[in-house]
Amino acid sequence: MIVARSIGELALPRHGVIGLVPTMGALHEGHAALFDAARPDCDVLVASVFVNPAQFADTADLAAYPQVLDADTAIAEEHGVDVIFAPSAAEMYPQGFATWVVPEGIAEGLEGAHRPGHFRGVATVCLKLFNVVRPQRAWFGRKDAQQVAVIKQIVRDLNLDVEIRVVETIRDPDGLALSSRNARLSPGERAQALAIPRALATRDAADARDVLAEAGITPDYVEVADLDGPTLAVAAYVGDTRLIDNVRLEGDS
Ligand code: AMP
Repeated sequence: MIVARSIGELALPRHGVIGLVPTMGALHEGHAALFDAARPDCDVLVASVFVNPAQFADTADLAAYPQVLDADTAIAEEHGVDVIFAPSAAEMYPQGFATWVVPEGIAEGLEGAHRPGHFRGVATVCLKLFNVVRPQRAWFGRKDAQQVAVIKQIVRDLNLDVEIRVVETIRDPDGLALSSRNARLSPGERAQALAIPRALATRDAADARDVLAEAGITPDYVEVADLDGPTLAVAAYVGDTRLIDNVRLEGDS
């Protein structure tokens, strides 16, 4: 496996299907599920590991984001990744950088409303990653359902030649969706956070709000939105840690 720390070190072949899994690192079984889904469907599997400063309005959240490239490299290798692309912020946003992708439409509610500029950062970095890696296919997790909808909108609107594949949310056995942020939860907070999957299991926004309120959680939002199909989406702080999760209201139960 190759670890490329700059665009120049990314020597990707011109033949075969290139697959991309964009991540922010601190890899866990959720990311591994994306690698496992991607592996049989591409010839060269690239995982990007980049904590994108442009998508964090909250500098404390950015500073607290775990960065563990050695552990990430081991997990990626175990799951068949061929190339890790782990650029510096200066590589992705060199001095003078001044061009942004600003998605509207589906990017405006939910996370877009509560994290101003978040999807501008996501959209810009994803377009840059698509241009640098030139994948024919890219895999994203349903855990970030609005992100999936935003990426699909960008691909459609800007005629990007990349096929977006979606992998269902991987959960711990108790129902908590895996997230790099879960490591920040104290044991008590982790128990409290279980109210989020319980709330989603009601499949109803009002009932979900009640479940969260009983657990002492005041959510940023609990809303049904069309995110690649009708979806009940939740964002909530548990202690200082902001968690998001969702359930599709059609298809699976
Ligand atoms: P992140 O590193 O959090 O930016 O996530 C990178 C990719 O992994 C995104 O497409 C996420 O949706 C996906 N992902 C993160 N957690 C999970 C999970 N628990 N199940 C499935 N996909 C996930």
